[in-house]
Amino acid sequence: MSLRDAQRGLGALLEVDLQIDRRRQQIAALDPGTTLAARYKVSKPNADTLRAEANTLAAVQKDAELTLAGIESKIKAATDKLYSGKVTSPRELEDLQAGIDALGRQKATLEDELLIHMEAAATADKAAKAAELDVAKITRAYRTLKDTNTKREAELLAEIKAMEPMRKPLVNAIADKAVVKQYELIRERKGGAGAAFMTWDRTCTSCGMMVNGTTVNAVTDGLVLATCEHCSRILLPG
Ligand SMILES: [Zn+2]
Repeated sequence: MSLRDAQRGLGALLEVDLQIDRRRQQIAALDPGTTLAARYKVSKPNADTLRAEANTLAAVQKDAELTLAGIESKIKAATDKLYSGKVTSPRELEDLQAGIDALGRQKATLEDELLIHMEAAATADKAAKAAELDVAKITRAYRTLKDTNTKREAELLAEIKAMEPMRKPLVNAIADKAVVKQYELIRERKGGAGAAFMTWDRTCTSCGMMVNGTTVNAVTDGLVLATCEHCSRILLPG
């Protein structure tokens, strides 16, 4: 068995490994949802703040409504008394009427204030709802992304699992075990391809750099196992 045979054997193994690596890269490149997570981190507290503001304004409105209701029942009680026939003294009747008038003025002011409170509460509620809707949208998009990623990752892992058994016979077919060992070592260290092809224009297919003349000769002659001087991968004739 010559080094040429080892080069050929490595070439076949590399083809399978490149397929496996491509899928591993696709898994690594899956969008982890960082942008959506960052948007959530801003939108959620913003929505919470707006909701708290809306709740405060709603409470203010409720208080104003209760105060107004209190005045209204005071006016009703005084009016009932005025027309009950039980009060006959003109002075007392006059006082009652004056009291009712004063309460009426108070009521008008409270009604104006209530309108302002209602408008502010409605505006705040609208803003809070819009922010909450935005948070819900982000959450939904994040969940969809994660689901899609999980599915895609499972597909790719299944493809890798199907390809891995193809390696063993290819490894066994290489008689020079030192070459295999070196290949696997580089593969482990690089976290990817342990070899690369050299193209017709002397370029390493892995790092894309041009290989120097001595290396080119070593690769084509097949007398020594040459490595790319740029990325240290075993270079194989393309
Ligand atoms: Zn290289």
